[in-house]
Amino acid sequence: MPVEKIFWKDPYLTKLNAKVTSIDGNVITLDKSIFFAVSGGQDSDSGTIGAHRVIDARKVSLEILYTIEGPHTLQRGDEVLIEIDWEKRYRLMRLHFAAEIVLELMYRNYQHPVKIGANISVDKARIDFIWQGNISETFPLIEKKASLLIDSNLPIISEFSDSIREERYWEIEGFAKVACGGTHIRHTGEINTIRLKRNNIGKGKERIEIYLDPD
Ligand SMILES: [Zn+2]
Repeated sequence: MPVEKIFWKDPYLTKLNAKVTSIDGNVITLDKSIFFAVSGGQDSDSGTIGAHRVIDARKVSLEILYTIEGPHTLQRGDEVLIEIDWEKRYRLMRLHFAAEIVLELMYRNYQHPVKIGANISVDKARIDFIWQGNISETFPLIEKKASLLIDSNLPIISEFSDSIREERYWEIEGFAKVACGGTHIRHTGEINTIRLKRNNIGKGKERIEIYLDPD
C-alpha cells in the first residue's frame, strides 16, 4: 500500500503520527503523511519526521520517499511524529490557488494561451505563456475578475476523480473544474489580495508573477 496522503484529506493538519514502513539508509517511507512532496509545480513542505529534518521529499509513482537528516536509529514499524512548517505550507496553498485562478481566467478570457511552465514557491507563483506583446495588458481585467472570485469567498471542492490512480481535481461550482494533485485551500477568500507583475522572459514568451498582497 502506498502512503496514505492525509495532506489531501486534511490540508490544514500540521502534525500527525505515522508508522515507518521501510528504511533504506536515510530514505524512509510512511504508512500515512501530511508532508507534501513536490508535484504539479508546488514545492515540497519543510519540516521534520521523528525530529529529523527532511532534506528531500520525492514522489515515485504513488509512493513518497523521504530523505531525513542522519544519523538516525529509526526502524521499520516505529511510530514517528511528522511536523510541517505551516507558515510555508499555507503560503504555498494560497499562492497555488491564486495561480489556479489566474490561469483559468487567462484561458477563458484570452483564447486559451499556451502555458509553457509554472512554479509555486513561498514568495511568489509564476506562470509562463507563449504570448505576443506585453502580457501586462491583461492585468486590469484578470485582477478585477480574480478579486471578484476571492471577495466572494467561494467554496473550493477538492476530490478524487480516480481514487485508485490517485488523480485529483478542484472545483468551484459555476467557475471551473480542473485536474490537480496539489494541496488546496477551502475558500477563495483565504487568498486575500493578489498583485500581478510582468516578466518578459524572451521573444514571444511572457511570465506572470503572482504575489500575495499584503504579504
Ligand atoms: Zn492545484
